[in-house]
Amino acid sequence: MIELVSLLLGSANLSRFVLFPYDMYGAQKAIIRKNFAFYNNLSESDKRIFEHRVIRFIEAHNFSGREGVVITKKMEILIASTAVMLTFGMRRYLFPKFKNIIVYPKNYVSKVTKRRHKGETNPRAGTIVFSWDNFLSGVEVEDDNLNLGLHELTHALHFNFLMDGSFTAAVFLDKFKALLERMKDKKLQRKIVKSGYLREYAFTNKYEFLSVLVEHFFETPHEFQKKLPEVYEMVKDMLNIDLLKMSA
Ligand SMILES: [Zn+2]
Repeated sequence: MIELVSLLLGSANLSRFVLFPYDMYGAQKAIIRKNFAFYNNLSESDKRIFEHRVIRFIEAHNFSGREGVVITKKMEILIASTAVMLTFGMRRYLFPKFKNIIVYPKNYVSKVTKRRHKGETNPRAGTIVFSWDNFLSGVEVEDDNLNLGLHELTHALHFNFLMDGSFTAAVFLDKFKALLERMKDKKLQRKIVKSGYLREYAFTNKYEFLSVLVEHFFETPHEFQKKLPEVYEMVKDMLNIDLLKMSA
């Protein structure tokens, strides 16, 4: 069967193969086209896979609004597309340990920390929380290295992989471990700080470091590659996505 499939697909990436993909409505595709350059740079067959994954992601997670937010199709599509973009190089793209996605209108007081948050990822409750104004500006401003959706979803992906025994998880965690190991090099540390490229928050702990790297990777890949080529390569490997090739 595998041989037959690869024969049919030529060099297409088997890990993303979908036999009968879900079809997406034109209006929904238009939302993705308008907001995700990543999607526009995909081949036609990869676009179908992206859409299929977005639909499956929406089906597999519970979206709920707080403080007056009514969840719209557009919200679901923007959140799901961000998750699908993040995981597009991987076989797994659902976050089974984070079934609940909660949306507040703006900064809110967290039930966990009792402090004001733009968003959070709570592995114990299995929830990812976004403030919608911050989420939207993360999507709309594509090159300021701030993307709340990518930031929180990267935490969720990481926690999910820590609790999951899959091959995809093992590969990701191995590569992240290698990255952290490499970061012990004082020369590289100095180079990163001197570049001024990553915001200081990245150095809070390894979780924030990962999320901030991913925000930079998707928002300003050319600058990332130029300023910190070695780190860029490691993130590229970890996510199995080559953005520079895609947008060339
Ligand atoms: Zn964070």
